[in-house]
Amino acid sequence: MDSQAQSHANPRAPGLVLRDPATWLKQWRPLIVLAASIAYGLAVSLWLAPVNTADEVVTRGAADLAWKAFITGLLVFALLLNLRIVFRLRRPGLAWLSVLMVAVIHSQLVMDGLGSWLLWPRHPELNALLGISLPLCLIALCEFTPHFLPLGKPSIRLLRAFSLLGGLHLLAAPFAIELIGQDTLVVTGVLGGAFICVLTFWHRHHNHGRYFAPSILVIALGATTTSLRLIGWLPANTLTDSAFSLGAALGALILTSGVDRLLVQERRRRAGSDNRVRQERQLRARIEQEYDHLMKTHRVTGKPNRPVLEEALEAINSNLSPYTLCLIRLARFNELEQALGYHTAEDLLKQYLRQLNSVLKRCLGDRLIAINGQALATLDTSNHAFAFYRDPNAGPGDPALDAITDWLGRNFREGRFSFSWAPALGLAHAPEHGKDATTILSSAGFASLDDTRPLSVYDPSVARRLYRQQMLILDVEEALSAGEMWLEYQPKVSIRDGRIDSLEGLIRWHHGEFGRVAPDQWIPLAEKVGMIHTVTLWVLDRACRDFAALRDRFGRHISVSVNISAKDLAQPGFHRFAAGITQRHGLSPENFILEITETAMMSDPETARKTIGMLSATGFRIALDDFGAGHSSLGTLATFELDELKIDRSFLKNILHYPKRQRILRVALELGESLDLDVVVEGVEDETIAIWLQQFPGLHGQGYYWGPPVIPNGR
Ligand code: C2E
Ligand code: CA
Ligand code: CA
Repeated sequence: MDSQAQSHANPRAPGLVLRDPATWLKQWRPLIVLAASIAYGLAVSLWLAPVNTADEVVTRGAADLAWKAFITGLLVFALLLNLRIVFRLRRPGLAWLSVLMVAVIHSQLVMDGLGSWLLWPRHPELNALLGISLPLCLIALCEFTPHFLPLGKPSIRLLRAFSLLGGLHLLAAPFAIELIGQDTLVVTGVLGGAFICVLTFWHRHHNHGRYFAPSILVIALGATTTSLRLIGWLPANTLTDSAFSLGAALGALILTSGVDRLLVQERRRRAGSDNRVRQERQLRARIEQEYDHLMKTHRVTGKPNRPVLEEALEAINSNLSPYTLCLIRLARFNELEQALGYHTAEDLLKQYLRQLNSVLKRCLGDRLIAINGQALATLDTSNHAFAFYRDPNAGPGDPALDAITDWLGRNFREGRFSFSWAPALGLAHAPEHGKDATTILSSAGFASLDDTRPLSVYDPSVARRLYRQQMLILDVEEALSAGEMWLEYQPKVSIRDGRIDSLEGLIRWHHGEFGRVAPDQWIPLAEKVGMIHTVTLWVLDRACRDFAALRDRFGRHISVSVNISAKDLAQPGFHRFAAGITQRHGLSPENFILEITETAMMSDPETARKTIGMLSATGFRIALDDFGAGHSSLGTLATFELDELKIDRSFLKNILHYPKRQRILRVALELGESLDLDVVVEGVEDETIAIWLQQFPGLHGQGYYWGPPVIPNGR
């Protein structure tokens, strides 16, 4: 780096700084003032000489003159310094120090024989040192002490009293009254001074006390020396002559500079705290900014959140500018989150959304509605949305949307990963599918719930169905306790003689608002949201309550079947709950058959096998329901402890016309029998099939042919 560059890099580099004369003067001002003051003192001392007798002038040596000049200069300097602080800091109380300086300068002049023309020219005796300067010094000392020390009220009052006495002396001096003559003044002065000394000692550790104590000490020392010299106890010489002035000048300097320093420190501290306040303000501003950001973005994706999206949509008048809101539901996000772990899944999601963001910008261009400057908003980690203006005159297809759907249909590739988030798109048009942002958003949300297609446009009838389903789920518990639900029983008969062996309990619901609601309309959702367990226990309990009536009607040999869901099998201690219910009603688990569908067993075979084992051990009989509707082999299902096999009614469809179907049914029946299971054929509706089934003597049947589900003691 060359020197020029260096000087740029560090403008304070020594030798390269040209001092500004104004700065230089400012820096050295105190010393310049001191030098000027001493020069002034010298001038005064020289000027004094002619006023005095010629002899005295002769006796004064050059050294003496210089000393006087120095003392006077020092006093003037102390006075100026003090006045500067008084004015700069606007502390008039400190001006008492200036009064002290003036009094001391006066006393010095008096002692140098110059007093006669200063105050009372016609009464030279009044200019005596003790008559004017000493009371003034006492007043000044008493008055400025409270400005330096933290005094209580009594001390301040006493000081005021001394000050008042000093004032009285000052006023009475010209009249030379005996009673308040110089002796009393000396006593007052000594007492006042002693009191100040005591106060000073007392507060020596106070901030100002550190400066006040030595200052008072120096002043007291000077005053004592001069007093002793006046009484004649000390020899008269240059030092004893000017001891008071010197002490006072030094004291004033110590005090003034001390106060100055303390005030500078105070100012620095204040500047420091100003700085802190500024920093705190900046910090607060930053926090507010971050909070704002936090309030507007999604925690994981960093994309604008739902309120921001709604705000952006609310700002559009959809009557003038029709738009489409598109909700992307990543159906596999939760599954992938479980498989890959939260961090990896979230990182991948961010990557995916970043790519999607650019795809949207590229495909939709100007039509894209900016959401806080972004193309996409995140509702939650699985649901994301974007919106774009629609051309009301355009045809049904939208090439941009096709391109986006195409991109979404492809596998997502990132590093070693290549998979699909299974995105399902739900579209809602504003203003047709909702006037406000919230309605449009829920319309698009409804549309995205359609699993059958990758892209679905909002359909009010589908939405009504979904809405109804959600409403039903909210009402299930209430309906169970309010008597809106009951069980109907459908017989299972022996094909050979039509005798009823058992009855299947099927739940029925008469909803206050929607009327009769079939189980298919709400049971799958109840399973999904984890509500089915309550239903199952209620059904078992109701079956126990109905059991006596059923026995009275259909015979003592009958047993009752109830349907169990896959979720029940996963419920820890389910066998105990179930057995507990039967026991509470004085019944035994042997009276009941639990029907479990093939798909329920196969969703988590291990757990199912364990729970079924325990239920079986408790005494319940187990039926495999809807066999054939799923895809599992009977071989696998045979590993479960089963008692009954219910062949799905789909097997019977057109069975008389299809010999192949007949063969399949035959094999299924043979397999069931070889595994020692009671085989039940479901959905027998007409006589021809019932007659055809007679060829399988051990078989059981269930269907409208033998009877529909009925209430226990009625039709
Ligand atoms: P599922 O267990 O297969 O019950 C038999 C269903 O077939 C019943 O419908 C019954 O009314 C009907 N059905 C009976 N005979 C015939 C017939 O000859 N032809 C035709 N086409 N259908 C017939 P439902 O009562 O509507 O029940 C439907 C499904 O709801 C049941 O199928 C079962 O999976 C479930 N479900 C019913 N009640 C309960 C319950 O209490 N708990 C649980 N978890 N599920 C239940
Ligand atoms: Ca069943
Ligand atoms: Ca069935």
